[in-house]
Amino acid sequence: RDTQRIDKILSNSGFGTRKEIKKLIKNGEVKVDGVVVKDSAMQVNPKESVIEVAGEILKYREYIYIMMNKPQGVISATYDNRHRTVIDILPDEYKFFNLFPVGRLDIDTEGLLLLTNDGQLAHELLSPRKHVPKKYYALIDGIVTTKDVDVFREGVVLDDGYKTLPSELFILKSGPYSEVEIVIYEGKFHQVKRMFEAVGKKVKYLRRIGMGKLKLDETLEPGDVRELTDEEMLLVK
Ligand code: URA
Repeated sequence: RDTQRIDKILSNSGFGTRKEIKKLIKNGEVKVDGVVVKDSAMQVNPKESVIEVAGEILKYREYIYIMMNKPQGVISATYDNRHRTVIDILPDEYKFFNLFPVGRLDIDTEGLLLLTNDGQLAHELLSPRKHVPKKYYALIDGIVTTKDVDVFREGVVLDDGYKTLPSELFILKSGPYSEVEIVIYEGKFHQVKRMFEAVGKKVKYLRRIGMGKLKLDETLEPGDVRELTDEEMLLVK
């Protein structure tokens, strides 16, 4: 499917809401191959046609990929009627790309979240059959022991009876408060928190630091975003 509606192309390119785009078209500000567009539903191949908006040639990008260091207090969804979402906190320049988060982090979880409008990639990364590794840093209320490492390696039985796939637990610091890194290969609801609950401990703080081969850019403050680099694109594709 190489052609798309012109209004869809423009909205995927950040030109505004559907209404704003309709207006641009109505005002004769959109041209395809030099001809003024009359119909918002016109089918256009953006790779072959020259699209102009208000005299400027559009550099068409099919998809965009954004890394966010998700802050606490926002929901990883596109819409929520009570809380701000990861889409709400995006800089304006990214507001109209129809981005969505690839997977979910809890409201109080920080860290690596990929946002894209590439449904195919999202599907690949989220497919349960692919077992894409997800790596977290966690602060734990309780002494994490090598026994826990063994239990996690075997698979942990959660409160609903589900036994998790083997996961890797690394103890960074053990004490009344412990620091760990954990890699899981699936994404059950509240999985990391429930795994620690199963061994009698509480997750006090959780940050995702890796997904597949992609790593959180530690220079991003919570709430910051940037587009993936070409090198990172090779890691996710
Ligand atoms: N596990 C959790 O418990 N919460 C998250 O946000 C991610 C993994």
